[in-house]
Amino acid sequence: RHYQPALQAGLIERHELGEHLDSAIAIADSAFALQYQPIVDLATGGLVAFEALVRWPHVQRGMVLPDEFIPVAEESGQIVQLGAWVLERAVADTASWQHLSNGRRRRDQRPPLQVNVNVSARQFRDAGFVDVVRETVRNSGIAPGTLILELTESVLMRRDERVRADMQALGELGVGIAIDDFGTGYSSLSYLREFPISILKIDKSFIDGLALSQQQYALVEGIARIADTLGVQVIAEGIENTDQRDLLTSMGCPLGQGYLFAHPLPVDRAVALVRGDAEL
Ligand code: C2E
Ligand code: CA
Ligand code: CA
Ligand code: CA
Repeated sequence: RHYQPALQAGLIERHELGEHLDSAIAIADSAFALQYQPIVDLATGGLVAFEALVRWPHVQRGMVLPDEFIPVAEESGQIVQLGAWVLERAVADTASWQHLSNGRRRRDQRPPLQVNVNVSARQFRDAGFVDVVRETVRNSGIAPGTLILELTESVLMRRDERVRADMQALGELGVGIAIDDFGTGYSSLSYLREFPISILKIDKSFIDGLALSQQQYALVEGIARIADTLGVQVIAEGIENTDQRDLLTSMGCPLGQGYLFAHPLPVDRAVALVRGDAEL
């Protein structure tokens, strides 16, 4: 045992994190928070949607990042409960913001603000998932089409009957489905034919090299063109500089997200954007 102290320490740490997570999930409203990162129309700079990103401010641990606790919650199954909380909170916030921006929207004829919510593979596989989405949307009163569920390719890879049936049920509900981190997993453009996918999010790793490598540029342009042909929208992730933005605009990529426009924002700053009290 003593020759693997690091591994042992890691296991104990994960175990403790899992127990802390349990207590946090029991009081989710006061233990977790959501931040909202703007998704913008690259041509106009206008706000189109927010991606909800969960945060866990912890007294002893400081701000625990999702990359640290989401994998633990996935492994234990706690993500089912936590994910349901994220969905409910994000949809409730969005319902109030759509209300806030109604007057402004009618004047400039913008479509209602959308919200993107991350769904982990483990959460999607839970038998109650589609019902949770249906109930949450119904209770909130938002138009189903303004909710976008972000799934990774690992969900679609299975291609079994359950996945098919659930994807179809979500499609019939009218919620949008985005493939997150597109290009990093077992990417297959055939997913776009097989499932009711409305959005592709091109992973940051492709955007990073956009201005530096012609190959990278050609790849992103190709993805954008195929998506466009199939009527699937594209969001470029992790845009950090104007060179990247300009290249994406010139290839006709409609939507983007990244530190160039905004970091994930606490709720009050997101509200200020929606009200028009702050600009991007
Ligand atoms: P993701 O879904 O790919 O989210 C994008 C991550 O990239 C976020 O990190 C965001 O803050 C960061 N990001 C956005 N723009 C930029 C940029 O221009 N440069 C750089 N360097 N980073 C950028 P975050 O919030 O730490 O989340 C990390 C991951 O944790 C997410 O990756 C997602 O997979 C997961 N996650 C976050 N919230 C949730 C949630 O509520 N449910 C689930 N299942 N997973 C979540
Ligand atoms: Ca995401
Ligand atoms: Ca992503
Ligand atoms: Ca990611």
